[in-house]
Amino acid sequence: MRYLVLTDIHANLEALETCLEDGKRRGYDKTLVLGDLIGYGADPNAVVSGIQALAPTAIVRGNHDKIALGLDEAEGFNAVAKDAARWTFESLTPEHRAWLAALPAGPTIVDDLVEICHGSPYDEDAYIFDELDAIRGLKTSKRPLCLFGHTHYPVTFEIAGTAFQWTGPAASAGAVLPIKEGVKYLLNPGSVGQPRDGDPRAAYAIVDTVARQVELVRLVYPVAKAQSKIIEAGLPEVLARRLAAGR
Ligand code: ZN
Repeated sequence: MRYLVLTDIHANLEALETCLEDGKRRGYDKTLVLGDLIGYGADPNAVVSGIQALAPTAIVRGNHDKIALGLDEAEGFNAVAKDAARWTFESLTPEHRAWLAALPAGPTIVDDLVEICHGSPYDEDAYIFDELDAIRGLKTSKRPLCLFGHTHYPVTFEIAGTAFQWTGPAASAGAVLPIKEGVKYLLNPGSVGQPRDGDPRAAYAIVDTVARQVELVRLVYPVAKAQSKIIEAGLPEVLARRLAAGR
């Protein structure tokens, strides 16, 4: 089985389309979506339709998707995220809002090898940044490979017995990570639509459960087009600027 893994798309249609084209070229059987389809970008409806068309095998909600439940869910957001949340809430069609509101919280077990979550397997909204968070996640996850998003930062944490190590974005772009027997992994493929590791390219992954490997992909996409849509929509300008910086 080859899973296309998408997370943190954030209403960036140009980035999503670029990843889908590349995924088709590489080949995959099913799709896993780790949440945050919307928020920040200018194409919430087109992105929701695009994900619906993929009929994901497993999908969990992200914190930004929860605004479909009502704007109270944006309480923890900063001013820019709140502005974008309000614009997104008003832009979504009632059908898309209802579909997003019904998305389940993670974690979700996919098969014998893989489980998915948005933030962490112990709390859908928690960020996994450091070693302590990662070890807690590795102890909580129920499958050898737990895929997560939320930080928009591609990273792989792994533990074999008590031997812990991690691999950051520089080493992961374009890499193929083997899934070794007896090792547990916590892996963030990076954000499709709003990368924050200083690399503006869209990020996604393909998990191959037969070859036992993860292909980590970075792709140049039409950033300028996504940026001008954000400006034209009247969304905060900083959301356009950060796409070019990958921050
Ligand atoms: Zn996100």
